[in-house]
Amino acid sequence: KVNQKGHIMTISQDLFERAQSSIPGGVNSPVRAFNGVGGTPLFITKAQGPFTYDADNNRYIDYVGSWGPMILGHNHPQIKQAVLDAVENGLSYGAPTETEILMAEKVKELVPSIEKVRMVSSGTEATMSAIRLARGFTGRDKILKFEGCYHGHADSLLVKAGSGALTMGVPNSPGIPADFAKHTLTVSFNNLDEVKAIFEQYRDQIACVIVEPVAGNMNCIPPVAGFLEGLRSVCTDNKSVLIFDEVMTGFRVALGGAQQYYKIEPDLTCLGKVIGGGMPVGAFGGKKEIMDFIAPVGPVYQAGTLSGNPIAMAAGLKALELLSAPGLHESLESKSKALCAGFQAAADKHNIPLTTNYAGGMFGFFFTDAKRVDSYQQATECDLERFKRFFHLMLEEGVYLAPSAFEAGFVSTMHSDQDIEDTIQAADRAFANLVA
Ligand code: PMP
Repeated sequence: KVNQKGHIMTISQDLFERAQSSIPGGVNSPVRAFNGVGGTPLFITKAQGPFTYDADNNRYIDYVGSWGPMILGHNHPQIKQAVLDAVENGLSYGAPTETEILMAEKVKELVPSIEKVRMVSSGTEATMSAIRLARGFTGRDKILKFEGCYHGHADSLLVKAGSGALTMGVPNSPGIPADFAKHTLTVSFNNLDEVKAIFEQYRDQIACVIVEPVAGNMNCIPPVAGFLEGLRSVCTDNKSVLIFDEVMTGFRVALGGAQQYYKIEPDLTCLGKVIGGGMPVGAFGGKKEIMDFIAPVGPVYQAGTLSGNPIAMAAGLKALELLSAPGLHESLESKSKALCAGFQAAADKHNIPLTTNYAGGMFGFFFTDAKRVDSYQQATECDLERFKRFFHLMLEEGVYLAPSAFEAGFVSTMHSDQDIEDTIQAADRAFANLVA
């Protein structure tokens, strides 16, 4: 097909044009539109193992993994079978099932700080509900979040948020009444002094602190030593609820999430992505006395027509079972480590300033002179133009990285040593191109 200017169009380009006349921006979630990198998004037709395939039949080594869920690779045969088996018995009942108990028991086993858990259908619902619960439980209105951390798109959380909101330069979205946003306090990630100062200022008013224990929505920024410990003690001292948003890090950074990796127990945990094995699932859970504040036992209302959906539970439960294989997360982390080391060596060779971060199965790389990147400020100061060019060069090499400098990358158990090595070789050629 040719476009109006007579240029030959790829099938993705054709689909993107068509999509834009009936879907805002042609996509159902903003970052997919390649706003952060320019160009045409790839329309995907299938995915298998570590690879995705686009409508033009190009194959990519995929480090997006549906933005996190595909930690076992795409279309894992056992997850697929679990879904097919569940489908035999109907798609949804809106009534309790045993699979939901099995799921709750599994979550408790893997994440011991969770004594009770409620299933929802997205990460956004998980964080929104956890915040409401923390407010209801403490009887306080204010919440504290960190600049560049993204917790889904609930009104009070879209303040100085990361991810697509950061990429698009609208951290404070229109449509959110100032009266809602005023209860959201924001300080710098990895800066405990600012946390302490704000608690001084708003003594007895802060219901909760919500944090991505490893930030993954402003690229990948692990906590500095002492940061999570500090949050834990500030929250305990002030009777505020500490919420770990482990939508991204849960079952990925370690089997028990970032709280296991860094050995810090939050009061509430939000889960998403991996917990659904690719189906739309989220969850929030934690201390029994807080969770029992939720309806129907408690006064804080929260509900969902498709919550605990049997097909989604079957997929998620199978994913969690498979993830429990011994040594799996050590092996995932070694892939992140190898990828980061390979990128670093290749960049050094071409005299391109680069810094990398990783924690378990998530990683990030920054085009910057800084030796470490620990803050949102530093992440935004990186060379974004260089990232955009690198992203497209890698795409041409058959490597699909997150189409934004403000997203973490994800490895899966299906990325072989050869896939990692091929990716590093591709990066080496891309870096050479960048300085040519
Ligand atoms: N919290 C975090 C840490 C996330 O990364 C995301 C999604 N990227 C969310 C919450 C929101 O999840 P969802 O997109 O499923 O609503």
